[in-house]
Amino acid sequence: MTGVEPVARPLLHSRLVNPPFGDPGVYVGFMFEKQGLLFDLGDLQKLSDRRLLRVGQIFVSHTHMDHFTGLDRLVRIFLGRQKTLHLFGPPGFIDRVSHKLAAYTWNLVGNYRTDFTLMVSEFGQDETLTRARLRCRAVFKPEMLDPVEARNGLLVDEANYRVYASVLDHGIPCLGFAVEEHRHVNVWKNRVEAMGFRVGPWLRDLKQAILRDDPDDTPFRVRWREDGSVHEAQRPLGELKAELTRIVPGQKIAYVTDVAWNEDNRAAIQTLARDADIFYIEAAFLDEDAEVAASKRHLTAAQAGWLAREAGAKRMIPFHFSPRYSDREDALRLEAEASFTGTAKPRGASTI
Ligand SMILES: [Zn+2]
Ligand SMILES: [Zn+2]
Repeated sequence: MTGVEPVARPLLHSRLVNPPFGDPGVYVGFMFEKQGLLFDLGDLQKLSDRRLLRVGQIFVSHTHMDHFTGLDRLVRIFLGRQKTLHLFGPPGFIDRVSHKLAAYTWNLVGNYRTDFTLMVSEFGQDETLTRARLRCRAVFKPEMLDPVEARNGLLVDEANYRVYASVLDHGIPCLGFAVEEHRHVNVWKNRVEAMGFRVGPWLRDLKQAILRDDPDDTPFRVRWREDGSVHEAQRPLGELKAELTRIVPGQKIAYVTDVAWNEDNRAAIQTLARDADIFYIEAAFLDEDAEVAASKRHLTAAQAGWLAREAGAKRMIPFHFSPRYSDREDALRLEAEASFTGTAKPRGASTI
């Protein structure tokens, strides 16, 4: 075999919006595409306007201030643009968003040539999305739309990824999320030439045939243009697949914050974050303060590590550290890690 193997670069690139003592949130960017997803809307100052303007879908766990205060910045930078933003949140979310926007004066927007629009969806236990459209030119007054199904918590079903939600308990309903990128096909471009072909739109068809799982003996037409004339060849799909491509499994990124340590949450989190490549999970308190964590319906670092381990996550990123530990960041990290790697357990884990 000739050629350099293409690097299996992940399509999704995620990072915390703020350091772990700052407001919670994760930004997910897409390789090669000017597209972004945002989980929670706390303090967004650390995200540039350029990055924020790429965001098309926003997922809000709940509307405590540290998760929702960034709506203002978001609306402000999109105002005057012809753009539709999709926001997802827990029951009551449409009211919260529209009340926040109702606090401003909008007497001039009727004359805007653009119509910046928010499509706001609430996800609840009934596996449906209650939806409203809030248009700038209609002074962001919610227009209710027909509800749609969100079976198994499927909020978004795009060509290259899906987003799922699960309703968790934080004393109030609080959503956890998971993004799952579809598997995709990489092509060794230099091998295309080695086989005597040239690159062209046929490669896109080849990728689609592979992802459809067409049988290996399917004849596949390779067609390209060179020096003004059209060239054609035919090969079995299986041969082209083996020689030219590599299938890259999709990544999964899970995001869970502000949840109580109880049985229902544990079960729902296991399902949502199952086998995640990266699991962002709150680790607000130390296990020695488990009672405080319980009273505030938050996790301890040891509980977070345990949940990530049980879900089979490959990597855990703890965040949303309580400011009471501002000089003990290492203790939170070590405790989460010890539990994640199985060298320690959260208190009371024997009763799980
Ligand atoms: Zn919070
Ligand atoms: Zn909260």
